[in-house]
Amino acid sequence: MRPPRPVLILGGTAEAWQLASALAGEPTLAPTLSLAGRTRDPRPSPIPMRIGGFGGVEGLRGFLRSSGIERVVDATHPFAAQMARHAAQACAAEGVPLLKLTRPPWTAGPGDRWTAVPDLPAAVEALGDVPRRVFLTVGRGSLAYFTAAAWHFYLVRAIETPDLALPNQKLVLQRGPFSVEDESDLLRREGIDVVVTKNSGGRDVEAKLGAARELHLPIIMVERPALPPGVAVVHHWKLARDFALADH
Ligand code: NAP
Repeated sequence: MRPPRPVLILGGTAEAWQLASALAGEPTLAPTLSLAGRTRDPRPSPIPMRIGGFGGVEGLRGFLRSSGIERVVDATHPFAAQMARHAAQACAAEGVPLLKLTRPPWTAGPGDRWTAVPDLPAAVEALGDVPRRVFLTVGRGSLAYFTAAAWHFYLVRAIETPDLALPNQKLVLQRGPFSVEDESDLLRREGIDVVVTKNSGGRDVEAKLGAARELHLPIIMVERPALPPGVAVVHHWKLARDFALADH
């Protein structure tokens, strides 16, 4: 009988965790979940886990070789562009099949007032010169960009306390899922007049979009960085499970 085949899941998302749970106990596989180590208190992993960067493309190539990895699923966040790029380069160089697992992006519908911007500096720019009351849900690692526009009030929502505080902010520590009703209450209560968010997709945190629609508020939507060319993409962990399990 063949020994279990080592596969690597690049994680840091709910999707990666779902996939890891689905692969736990698969007798033909020896999966490993990799985290960057940004979260202070990560959810316990259902499969063996490693934590920390690999040391760039060369470091990842070394890891793939030394661990005999046969397949990689990049299930990192859609805004983790560097890791996606490194995975594409390392897998191509080592001849290891790679699949990207990511949530579908949100799309604007009737009644939405979205301004799409390509990156965070453009989102800061789009807020303009007149002080506004901003609901900011871009992740604690991205707050620093907004120090460049300190004249706005920021209602910052994060899962863990950010290392940085904006000069004029109120911090709300909350993890989804959220309801449209609660999000509308929050926006009303805080007198918010614009929402800034990344197009991360996902149902757990999409209620803010419905709330903004309901209250006729504009959204500045930071669009995703491009994926590395040539990498196959799926939007559901079941397809990533099939990829990991396929005979190769
Ligand atoms: P990034 O800018 O693309 O990656 C920076 C470096 O962090 C990578 O070059 C790599 O270091 C290391 N790294 C990233 N993901 C890793 C993983 N799963 N396992 C091992 N090393 C990893 O990533 P980021 O935007 O800082 O995100 C870091 C982590 O947080 C990711 O796992 C991502 O899924 C999660 N996350 C990010 C966001 C976001 O908005 N960016 C939101 C939610 C969750 P080396 O070069 O040393 O290998």
